Amino acid sequence: MRALTIDGYGIENVAVREVARPEPGAGEVTVAVRAAAFNHLDLWTLRGTLGIEHHFPHVLGADGAGVVEAVGPGVPTGIRPGARVLMNPALSCGACERCRAGEQSECTSFRMLGEHEPGTVAEVVRVPSGNVFPIPEHLDFAEAAALGVTFVTAYRMLFNRGAMRPGEWVLITGIGGGLALSLFQLARPSAGKVFVTSSSGEKLARAQDLGADGGVNYREEDVGRAIRRLTGKRGVDLVADSAGGASVDASLRSLRKGGRLVVAGATAGPTAEIDVRRVFWNQLSVIGSTMGSVADVSDMLRLVAGSKLHPIVDRVVPLDEAPGALRLLEAGGQFGKIVVEVGS
Ligand code: ZN
Repeated sequence: MRALTIDGYGIENVAVREVARPEPGAGEVTVAVRAAAFNHLDLWTLRGTLGIEHHFPHVLGADGAGVVEAVGPGVPTGIRPGARVLMNPALSCGACERCRAGEQSECTSFRMLGEHEPGTVAEVVRVPSGNVFPIPEHLDFAEAAALGVTFVTAYRMLFNRGAMRPGEWVLITGIGGGLALSLFQLARPSAGKVFVTSSSGEKLARAQDLGADGGVNYREEDVGRAIRRLTGKRGVDLVADSAGGASVDASLRSLRKGGRLVVAGATAGPTAEIDVRRVFWNQLSVIGSTMGSVADVSDMLRLVAGSKLHPIVDRVVPLDEAPGALRLLEAGGQFGKIVVEVGS
């Protein structure tokens, strides 16, 4: 079968290659993929910066949607060939204390499709049966693929780890990327105000068209000061940050007293300098978040289905153009998810 793979680290080694077609084992299903979506995770994987030993050729991609092709022994009877499903890329052991507590993303042996295991940009993917979920009826395969990593992560950041309440004021950093837009789409309906940051005036304008209450260009203005100005010196209740790096200090300075910063990414850099006095004097919370539990996935899908939300897709490209689309992701020029059409 055809799949998007690397046969060595570096974007120059990305190509569509023939690989062995997987068969489902006990408790597993295979999914005939119709659409897959890219994440920054794919860039970390293909650069070899995650410290994981890969067997080449390694298939890329964490997000995918398609149709159940075959089921292995012991799979619940509710999962049948032909069902429209999307895949939760989070793989957990199911047996450790955190898994048994229902917190699969805190699993001691947590793994991801496309990162530790063969990924989703392939004609067929093998996953545990618990990792497939019915696609909300109003979504096509491309939109369903766009719901994976970023919507699960965003849901947990806002409503689980961030404990967001209706009417709160929220700041989302780096609008335009998949995670930031997922945060925006999930937060907007119940937030009092939503503010965004970007280095691009065009992206800020597009966010305001989508309902943002204000935007800050962090290349031109100090974010903390700008948010004070936009909120009448109050600050926001919650910052959802996927940039990390220098963005963390600016996020802390944007919070009201008692506010929360939820961080789930480090695209701007892995280290941040924090004034500890600001954290204790203003009684701030700094909260980490990664992917989501099975309950987070179900809750997110119920919200998307009920509100008829359509994830923002920047473009859909055929499999043969997937290597070029990864370069576009690397350059950061997209507004929304980059989706690869795999089968039909
Ligand atoms: Zn576990």
